[in-house]
Amino acid sequence: MLLLAGAVVLFSVPLGAAAAALPAQAAPFVVKAPPALEPVAQRIRALTPYFLEPAVDLTGATGSQEPIRVVLMEESSPMAKQVPPWYSAFADEATGTIVLFPARAPSYPDDGLLPLLRHEATHVLVGRVARHRPVPRWFDEGLAMTAGREWGFEDRTRFAMAVLAARGTKGSDLDRLFDGGPADVSRAYALAGGMVRDFIDRFGPAFPRRTLAAVGEGYEFSEAFHRATGGYLNDEVWRFFRRQRSLEAWIPALTSTAAVWALMTLLAIWAIRVARRRERLKRERLAALEAARAEAEARAREEAEAAAEAARKVEKLFPPDDELPVN
Ligand SMILES: [Zn+2]
Repeated sequence: MLLLAGAVVLFSVPLGAAAAALPAQAAPFVVKAPPALEPVAQRIRALTPYFLEPAVDLTGATGSQEPIRVVLMEESSPMAKQVPPWYSAFADEATGTIVLFPARAPSYPDDGLLPLLRHEATHVLVGRVARHRPVPRWFDEGLAMTAGREWGFEDRTRFAMAVLAARGTKGSDLDRLFDGGPADVSRAYALAGGMVRDFIDRFGPAFPRRTLAAVGEGYEFSEAFHRATGGYLNDEVWRFFRRQRSLEAWIPALTSTAAVWALMTLLAIWAIRVARRRERLKRERLAALEAARAEAEARAREEAEAAAEAARKVEKLFPPDDELPVN
């Protein structure tokens, strides 16, 4: 399921014109919709298999696949009244059905419906490849987030904050966060997305599909993870947290727009202070020079007066020749 209570900022992956030019293949979705939502249904029916490519790559759900059932629900439907308003969509992995509430899909920054659909479709594909055997929630959501959208600044900032808030969290605790309050759930999504990304960086892009395939063969998740990566799940989760708590976890937070402005303001204040200090020092130096000059002048005056005085005394002792008494 995808909770939109702050956990998810969707950046839709643009479907390039190149994808539209490719030959038509079996549609990945079959859609049921009330008449009012028929225009939305038409858009989803028009999607080609390329739409699901990121999810198929990630999960390894290749080969001939049954289309995924999508049911569009109006806000006036009984289902909409049963489901909390912050749930914009959910996937029933057992039946491979996605329920979407288009009125609840985010409309900013882009059309949020398609990334949402891709996110839920990833859950369906995870279920298919794992043959409906259990996988941890963080893994399932992390894959759906990775396939469903891009990784924006805001996500990274949120992720950095989530890591800092999650000191002492173990992998098993992470799944429990999904059942907590809105702040916990938001943190759980951010961590799940970050952890899957981190493991992909470490173990390569094939790690999720290898793990899912092993789960599908009947291995318990941690064993499947070990077979796919060579690592031990608990150790890797611990290492992930240790890595993320290092400086790099702060970098996204430090490069956010707000932080950049704050930094620029601080730099400006610093520059003004430096300039003022320089000005003050210059004034002080000038004043010191002036004082030294005045002192030197005073001393020179005193010396000159002293010399004149001495000359007068000498004059008294040795009067000029013409004043010498004539013998
Ligand atoms: Zn989800």
